[in-house]
Amino acid sequence: MRYIITFALTATPALADVPRVVTDIPPVHALVAEVMGDLGEPVLLLAKGADEHDFQLKPSQAGAVADADLVVWIGPELTPWLDNALEARSEGAATLALLRAEGTVLQDYADAHDAEAHDEAGHDHGPDDPHAWLDPGNARAWLGVIAGELGRLDQENAAVYQANAAAAGERIAALDREVAEILRPVQGKPIVSFHAAFGYFGHHYGLDFVGSIALGDAAVPGAARLAELRDRIEAGGVVCLFPEAQHDPALIEQMAEGTGAKIGGALDPVGSSLEPGPGAYAALLTGLAQTIADCAGG
Ligand SMILES: [Zn+2]
Repeated sequence: MRYIITFALTATPALADVPRVVTDIPPVHALVAEVMGDLGEPVLLLAKGADEHDFQLKPSQAGAVADADLVVWIGPELTPWLDNALEARSEGAATLALLRAEGTVLQDYADAHDAEAHDEAGHDHGPDDPHAWLDPGNARAWLGVIAGELGRLDQENAAVYQANAAAAGERIAALDREVAEILRPVQGKPIVSFHAAFGYFGHHYGLDFVGSIALGDAAVPGAARLAELRDRIEAGGVVCLFPEAQHDPALIEQMAEGTGAKIGGALDPVGSSLEPGPGAYAALLTGLAQTIADCAGG
């Protein structure tokens, strides 16, 4: 039996040529899975329930990065924990940083305070907000970029990748309209998130995130920042504060106390609580929209 199975696998040249792809976070994994379709399945590095900014690769995962034909990631701005593993790859190994890919529409951190604090922290990157997957326009652009790169590495299946990307793009266009519909009633209502992950999402759907407890890299906030945010919540008539799936809600509860603002369900901007796979991008966006609408719309 074993010989028959081995023969069946090695006798399928189209499959043997499909690149081994490793991805950083669930939404990127979902987009790559859409483009690969039935041809193959990408590897996802970020573990279930983990924080996208603060994660440590297991040795086996570092090995997967080293052996991958292609690594698709947002970029060093989001996941500095991937830098070392990428540097260990052989020269010329294919890597696709989506934040710098053609067609990506970048945003600064909307909160000037966040960008400033980032610079002060001595990070060796600019103030571009890396949470760019939360704009479905970027996700659609990336489908094409991913299909182009996979087609370059695997020319035999290039047309399949292109067709899969086109179909997924249409699904995202429909998803975008659905999410806009869910969020329409809560447009412009002042809300607060745990970390500064929602610049793109808020801008795209007309939401009013007036601030966040933690900065864009989800680092623990200082007392001055909390005091300033507390003032903003009281002065700005904030209706909801949202904890995050990967973080203790204690600070959110403390911040809301006595302000009249409600505490919403936990947001999961990176989707690490979701089942990974091609459907995870839609689940991510609708989940966020529903959680926001449930609190701010009621
Ligand atoms: Zn983040």
